[in-house]
Amino acid sequence: MSIQKTPEKNSILFVWLNNYAGILLKTPTKTLAIDPVDVKPKALQNIDAILITHEHYDHLDPPLIIKIQKATGCIVIADSASTKKLQLAIPDDKLQEIKPGVEIKIGEVSVKAEKSNHPAQAPVTYIITSEDQVKVYHTADSLPFPELAKIGQKENFDMVFCTVGIAPGATPQTGFEIAWLTKPQIAVPYHTATVASQKAFAELLKKELPRTACLIPEQNKIYQVSKRSEKI
Ligand SMILES: [Zn+2]
Repeated sequence: MSIQKTPEKNSILFVWLNNYAGILLKTPTKTLAIDPVDVKPKALQNIDAILITHEHYDHLDPPLIIKIQKATGCIVIADSASTKKLQLAIPDDKLQEIKPGVEIKIGEVSVKAEKSNHPAQAPVTYIITSEDQVKVYHTADSLPFPELAKIGQKENFDMVFCTVGIAPGATPQTGFEIAWLTKPQIAVPYHTATVASQKAFAELLKKELPRTACLIPEQNKIYQVSKRSEKI
């Protein structure tokens, strides 16, 4: 699954890769793969960086990461526990451990880690800001947590990915709470194997947070998201 076209100005393109939090994201100059699992290594080409949120099997597949890294020469940014599992196989100068509060630049694209409310060793979530300031929040499979309100206010997100199933405690309601706390322009329900849970999330949004649009993604389709024209 590679994205051939380039996003328009002030936009990004993304693809949902699996039943979990696997996202391929393309800005005008960089392509990032976040938590890729259940994909063929050859399907991910021209990758500049791989981002890993935590060590669980549905987010970290070491042999896959090693293959993609070898083929593309990309950098790998990972939480502490995942870094430990990768460090023998990924060259030192290509592997960067990240912790909440730390920002790493990939060219002019910024990747900043925040905390995650999920039972893993050192899980993180990622704020990705494109070179023309499109702001995306990849919340991995976190449950809601109170600091999300402040993060949302500060960052003014264009798009937030919200887990609606599979992870411990995750439901359309907890996914909705992430959207409610962060108040993005667009909320995207993912980390689920059922369209019903995505639709339940969309219903909650429509009722309780009508200014946030819902984008229900299908896997392996390309979506373009543009920066909101007026920053509030
Ligand atoms: Zn997960």
